[in-house]
Amino acid sequence: MYVIDSHIHCGIQNVDQPFSDIRPLLNRARISGACLFAPVEDIYDRYRPGFDDNEFWKATRKRAHDYLLQIACQNRSIYPYYFVWNDFLIEDLDRGFAGIKWHHHSGEPPYHYENPRCGAMIDAICERGLPVVLEETFDRTIWFIQQAAGRTPVIIPHLGLLNGGFTRLLKSGVWENETVYADTALAGSAEIQTFLDQYGAERLLFGSDYPFGYPDNQLQNLLHMGILQEDLKKICAENILRLVGKNAHDAD
Ligand SMILES: [Zn+2]
Repeated sequence: MYVIDSHIHCGIQNVDQPFSDIRPLLNRARISGACLFAPVEDIYDRYRPGFDDNEFWKATRKRAHDYLLQIACQNRSIYPYYFVWNDFLIEDLDRGFAGIKWHHHSGEPPYHYENPRCGAMIDAICERGLPVVLEETFDRTIWFIQQAAGRTPVIIPHLGLLNGGFTRLLKSGVWENETVYADTALAGSAEIQTFLDQYGAERLLFGSDYPFGYPDNQLQNLLHMGILQEDLKKICAENILRLVGKNAHDAD
């Protein structure tokens, strides 16, 4: 079965997660490709809640993104994502990224949602149809989905574990939205099964969240749940390829 890991962190500046370590893990798990995000540690100073931005971090972000683009140029079925920060650089969206990473936990420096450039960035992402992996507080998750609803796919990682929790999102009706997707990274099989029972397999994506989860055992957990083969094919590759496909610049 063809498998894409839709959630992998890859970077070589403030963390040690080079693609040269990741490729063998994918090979061992018989996973053909992956969506790569820069680690938060290479995007902004997540340990200083009052942090805004400076030239050092701008350069760090650029190197983090250049590294992913370079990997994608040299490796088939690798999909680099663009990690948005408060400079909201719309022009960066057209450098060959297949998706967007948007990440903030409470206690970390926040996005400046009140900045008009933020709204312009969201509009630009939607115009390009780029899928957004959104990890935010519960309230901001609901807000963001309202902004993007029907305009571009929004992927909630971990079936919502770090966006307020699976059940809270379920009760709020978030999963009903046809443009909202979820990934399986580090999610429990009970949550995965509930999602499948209620919404089917069209909006669920396999992901490992390396280095927090490992591609091999995350995939094995999913394969041992007794999910129908045709649904597994969607979860493991078809759904994510549909989302990144038209934006992907696939080498050779
Ligand atoms: Zn992650």
